[in-house]
Amino acid sequence: MSTPTDQRAAPQTPAMRAGGGRVELVDLCKRYGTAEPPAVDHVTLDIQPGEFITLLGPSGSGKTTTLNMIVGFTEPTSGSIRLNGRDISRTPAHKRNFGMVFQNYALFPHLTVAQNVAFPLRERKVPAAETARLVGEALQLVDLGGMDHRRPHELSGGQQQRVALARAVVFSPSVLLLDEPLSALDRKLRQSLQREIKRLHDELGLTFVFVTHDQDEAMTLSDRIAIFDRGRIVALGSPAELYHRPTTRFVARFLGESNVFAGRHRAADVYEWHGHKWTVREPATGNGGEQALVVRPERMNIALDEDSVPTGSNTAPATVTDVSFYGTYHRLELAFDDDTVGCAVLPVGAVATVGPGARVVAHWRPEHQVLVSE
Ligand code: ADP
Ligand code: MG
Repeated sequence: MSTPTDQRAAPQTPAMRAGGGRVELVDLCKRYGTAEPPAVDHVTLDIQPGEFITLLGPSGSGKTTTLNMIVGFTEPTSGSIRLNGRDISRTPAHKRNFGMVFQNYALFPHLTVAQNVAFPLRERKVPAAETARLVGEALQLVDLGGMDHRRPHELSGGQQQRVALARAVVFSPSVLLLDEPLSALDRKLRQSLQREIKRLHDELGLTFVFVTHDQDEAMTLSDRIAIFDRGRIVALGSPAELYHRPTTRFVARFLGESNVFAGRHRAADVYEWHGHKWTVREPATGNGGEQALVVRPERMNIALDEDSVPTGSNTAPATVTDVSFYGTYHRLELAFDDDTVGCAVLPVGAVATVGPGARVVAHWRPEHQVLVSE
């Protein structure tokens, strides 16, 4: 017999959740000055209801400007923003009803924890009893029950950010925007708050738009990642898609480590690099001759000589320049013969006899390489 009252039903895919808003960015542009290049340059992005999407990119790539246009703090120069199909480009920030969390917490120092969290409810003229109940629930949600009367300076950085999270979700927004919320915290605290944010997302079912410049953070948290470079989205996909099938050198370098070989895609099945001919499976696309060949470090193997390489593998001679031990694996830094710097990550035991200075043959299966454009 089914139990229709079971609240903890099977996890739903993001698109199935009803609670989160769908946010569409359509050809969004922002110019701060006519002389400067645009801060945001024709960004189009369809954010699904309940999705956890991360805007990832180097400093200055337009992430904060994009977030500020979504929330309504910054007016777009052109383009539009839609919420559940409705154009909100000209709707003032307070009427968009989005939650926002900043890097620097932005709590009111003279207010208590409870008063900080109650603030958005006071603005919305929510009755006192209802406010008390909602604030209590929000503080429980972020594990801060019993801290109601403290002031921000009596809390750790991590606790302050939990207060900011509670304040951002207490009025049940359909979208939560987070701009580098963990960047000010030390590594351990950052990891524990990452788990907290992920749990919050799963429990609330809201749409999360998360901004970070930290690729590991983006990989662990996101359903999808939009990679920003100079105001544009240069790649969009799940963490696994972007990691295993990067399409450009920038994406391969920005997300995870890579061995990037600058050779030439000569023919349908031949890639030429530094006097070597490697097997490729995919046809050269467009300007194929210029494609680089990328191998992720965990796909790169090491042999002591050519004879020990399994048939069908592609090979590149290299000198080991450094070996580091990480408990369960070794990381080898490699200098290839054209001065390309690369690395291999190998299980402990696989490289017992290899140390810095050793000449080795790096090898990998053709199906584990990816051709990328400039
Ligand atoms: P990110 O968040 O990715 O670091 P930003 O969106 O903050 O990037 O900035 C994108 C570009 O816009 C940068 O070149 C930055 O200097 C510029 N910029 C951001 N805010 C302003 C502003 N208020 N006035 C002028 N230029 C700005
Ligand atoms: Mg920023």
